[in-house]
Amino acid sequence: MRQKGKLIFILLFSFLIISSSSFTQQRQTPPVKLDKLSDRLFQILGGRGANGGMYVGTDGVLVIDAKMTKESVDQTIQEIKKITDKPIKYLVDTHSDGDHIYGNRFFPEAVTIVAHEKCREEFFHPRRDGEPSEWNNPELAPFLPSLTYSDRMDIYLGSKKVELWYFGVGHTKGDTVVYFPEEKTAFIGDQIFMGRAQLIHSYKGGNSFGHVKALTKMLETLDAERFCSGHSDPIDRSTVKHHIEEMKKIQAKIKSLVEQGKSLEDVKKEFEESHARLVEAIFYEIKK
Ligand SMILES: [Zn+2]
Repeated sequence: MRQKGKLIFILLFSFLIISSSSFTQQRQTPPVKLDKLSDRLFQILGGRGANGGMYVGTDGVLVIDAKMTKESVDQTIQEIKKITDKPIKYLVDTHSDGDHIYGNRFFPEAVTIVAHEKCREEFFHPRRDGEPSEWNNPELAPFLPSLTYSDRMDIYLGSKKVELWYFGVGHTKGDTVVYFPEEKTAFIGDQIFMGRAQLIHSYKGGNSFGHVKALTKMLETLDAERFCSGHSDPIDRSTVKHHIEEMKKIQAKIKSLVEQGKSLEDVKKEFEESHARLVEAIFYEIKK
């Protein structure tokens, strides 16, 4: 009897483990889906990697950011095929973080990969842990950005125009804003995080003061009303303004603490723990 009880317990326990792990997997990687913003413009949600975008021009498709796995890229391509039979012509990397570029290698080689020139340089930058970049491997060369720009670039997909804008060093050194004037919608990569601290990649040359300037310039330059980003729901202009003001407040607070001679550890204590990396970045920018 005791043996039977033990067996039932083991079976029940294994069932719980299996079902909970498949549940977690499902939760971790939802399938890729396209979220319609207009007849031509979609957000790419789900899969592994950041949210991206997809635009259907009159003679081809432009994709924004690449996901991270073959499965997610294949799903992206399948979802696009459900909407249009036009070929994917361009893939724009908004910046050089892995969750936006790792999947470049799973796109067909015929797709032209586009990025800001400094973003391309960052592909070769050593990783945060100091290890050399895998992009030095010649096998990955076909999946590096092959088309770069410095300030502005327009891409025509037949009669439809997609605008690429660079507003300066910020979250990284080479962040692109992809703007769709008819939709008044900008895809801004990771230049805004909602509900968590902004990432500033100091190790790649990113700068929080530059970030504030870049976003301010973006609002001054573009008549965008909707801003799509890698890890948050689309936001409006006032939310971008609010983000800029919050960043300025954090910078001002850190500046005054530095002026009082506080150490990094003391300054960090004045903020939530989730802000530690941002605080550290700003602290060293001010100290410089
Ligand atoms: Zn990201």
